[in-house]
Amino acid sequence: MANSDLMDKLVSLSKRRGYIFQSSEIYGGTGSVWDYGPLGVELKRNIKDRWWSAMVRRRDDVEGLDTSILMHPSVWEASGHVAAFTDPLVECTNCHRRFRADLPEVEGGQCPTCGTKDTFTEPRLFNLMFKTFMGPVEDSSATIYLRPETAQGTYVNFLNVQGAARQRVPFGIAQIGKAFRNEITPGNFIFRTREFEQAEMQFFVKPGTDEEWFDRWMETRMQWHVDLGIRPEKLRFQEHGPDELAHYAKKAFDIEYEFPFGWKEFEGIHNRTDFDLTRHQEHSGKRLEYIDPGSNERFVPYVVETAMGVDRTLLVVLVDAYREEEIQGETRVVLGLHPSLAPTKAAVFPLVKKDGMPEAAHKIKDALRAAAIPAFYDQSGAIGRRYRRQDEVGTPWCITVDGETAENDSVTIRDRDSLEQVRIGTDQVVGWIRERLD
Ligand code: ATP
Repeated sequence: MANSDLMDKLVSLSKRRGYIFQSSEIYGGTGSVWDYGPLGVELKRNIKDRWWSAMVRRRDDVEGLDTSILMHPSVWEASGHVAAFTDPLVECTNCHRRFRADLPEVEGGQCPTCGTKDTFTEPRLFNLMFKTFMGPVEDSSATIYLRPETAQGTYVNFLNVQGAARQRVPFGIAQIGKAFRNEITPGNFIFRTREFEQAEMQFFVKPGTDEEWFDRWMETRMQWHVDLGIRPEKLRFQEHGPDELAHYAKKAFDIEYEFPFGWKEFEGIHNRTDFDLTRHQEHSGKRLEYIDPGSNERFVPYVVETAMGVDRTLLVVLVDAYREEEIQGETRVVLGLHPSLAPTKAAVFPLVKKDGMPEAAHKIKDALRAAAIPAFYDQSGAIGRRYRRQDEVGTPWCITVDGETAENDSVTIRDRDSLEQVRIGTDQVVGWIRERLD
């Protein structure tokens, strides 16, 4: 399958089956933002829940936080985003579209939109933060920004969290939330959008121990993606060279995935040093030091950040899970999602629409739902078609009520990947699935 085909197929499957819709589609849509449908919202939530569980719930050295999108404008002066959060842009003087100066076509001198050559302006810096106004008056004194990352909300709350949770350095603060960047060249479906969600964790450490913690977090985060079921051969680390390092970073590694459009970052691990806390001390006039209760030593902690894009990770999950297989001369499309990520865990079918089978199937579906296991009832079409509809959205198990069910109270469960069928007692279904989800 050609790589561009794979992206087209995913976009179309996502729309048809309710994973992802283009935003404002009835108005012609926008290329830079997307909406998650009934299945997409479940998949996204499952990814976030796994992250939250691994990063916060299962650790006693990381606290959770949820800060606001709108912040005091000085935050972005202090963080360096007002001055430095810019991309060099060129404009085509023929069609007046703007592009990142580092795009290969642009470097080659040809406009990606109108195709004319050598019509670009000199590169100009352009701030990626969205501006808006706080309060009823639209003047410059009311200008604020939509946050371009969640991390700053964490830094300004560092002492609040540390004190309230009585944590001692080293410890971390995690949050999941929306971020906004007025990207010049959004694209590749949900890969680069202007509104997206981040799952970020800032780990505060004593200076001097930062490199050791950096290595530990690199390993922990890579393992998390492998545990998500992503094929390890499609994952790699890529270190930022000196000219790529962000203004705040001493060292940075990206976790990259081999997308159909090449190896690309979807998570970054950054050694942000004491840059952010020091800058907030300077700009706010408030001390952001940590006092070690044992030694009474005062210091501004260093920060090791793990910054994952939730939407990009979701794209990784979809791309990695999609496959087409030949079975008995027919092609089946499968989303081989990890069961813990699959939006629907089980589909329940009556073999035929009579002999009490629909009622028995409804009862099983209801029992699964009552146990908070998302289950789906389907009685329409041939059984093979019903299986294939579930394969395509990644449902791991299909349960079929058949003629034997009324006789001995048993059903078959078919596995999405191995296609094997087992027969178990109707009253064991919930437990059987629960066991495999845990
Ligand atoms: P890129 O180089 O792709 O613009 P970045 O290095 O600026 O990304 P970070 O600031 O490190 O990204 O943000 C951390 C994560 O947030 C990224 O790894 C990515 O998954 C996600 N992210 C950043 N920008 C976007 C965007 N415009 N759309 C979707 N996800 C994004």
